[in-house]
Amino acid sequence: MFTDTHNHTKHFSSDAKMTYQELIDACKAKNMNGVVVTEHYEGDYPHDIGDPQIFDIPKYFEETKAWLDYAGDFPLYRGIELGYQKHLCTFYDEMIEKYPFDEVILSNHLYRAMDPYFFRDCYKEDMLTCYTRYIEEMADLVEGCNNFDIVGHYDYINRYAPYEKPQIKYSQCPESFDRFLTAIIKKDKTLEINTRSIEKMRRKGLTDTLPDPQILKRYYELGGRNISLGSDSHTKDTLCIHFDEVAEYLKTFGFTENSFYVKRKRISEPL
Ligand SMILES: [Zn+2]
Ligand SMILES: [Zn+2]
Repeated sequence: MFTDTHNHTKHFSSDAKMTYQELIDACKAKNMNGVVVTEHYEGDYPHDIGDPQIFDIPKYFEETKAWLDYAGDFPLYRGIELGYQKHLCTFYDEMIEKYPFDEVILSNHLYRAMDPYFFRDCYKEDMLTCYTRYIEEMADLVEGCNNFDIVGHYDYINRYAPYEKPQIKYSQCPESFDRFLTAIIKKDKTLEINTRSIEKMRRKGLTDTLPDPQILKRYYELGGRNISLGSDSHTKDTLCIHFDEVAEYLKTFGFTENSFYVKRKRISEPL
């Protein structure tokens, strides 16, 4: 089994439903190696959604002491999922420094300052324009910020896309992907394979749902070896979802390890 590197609980992520007890019990029942909690932190979020996706960090470290006690011998790590915006890089870099996070995921939930989850306007553009711009923003994210470990769901943009074949592909914007992947390698960060994206597409009845082979091939070719498996679970039923299948798939490209972080140090376990 694996360590699931990306998960949310209802205590600190307003869109999640699972409690910490449910999370830990389910991880133990599934005989997982470990789990990383990565609650949402959307600084300066541009939409008024009632329940802001942000939390009190000192309170998080205080309250999660009880989680660690409840987990006992089971490895539970305390992380965060930062919501990227260009002007927040320095703020995040300095903020992260102040707290003892195990793992920091940096994700981009916005496209032209709008979250496609709420606003589907971005999809009025043609697929190539939309995806190219999103991957350019992902490259900006890696180049602009420093104090993070994992780049979250590069394919977030295709989760809600209405296009007939929504899977994001290397061939749609090779220069942008090269810029993005090279930045990850140069900064020694880790590329996340987010299995929630796969699950969401499968629930829509789509068949082309595994990450594009050309993206993985190119990442490996450029020297990328760091991969992280995240289920991005908001409920207990999706923990480690599709991990076995994705691990076998990743091995066919030469990847051998799943990486997660403890006290900001990369730890790897075999795929
Ligand atoms: Zn996310
Ligand atoms: Zn997430």
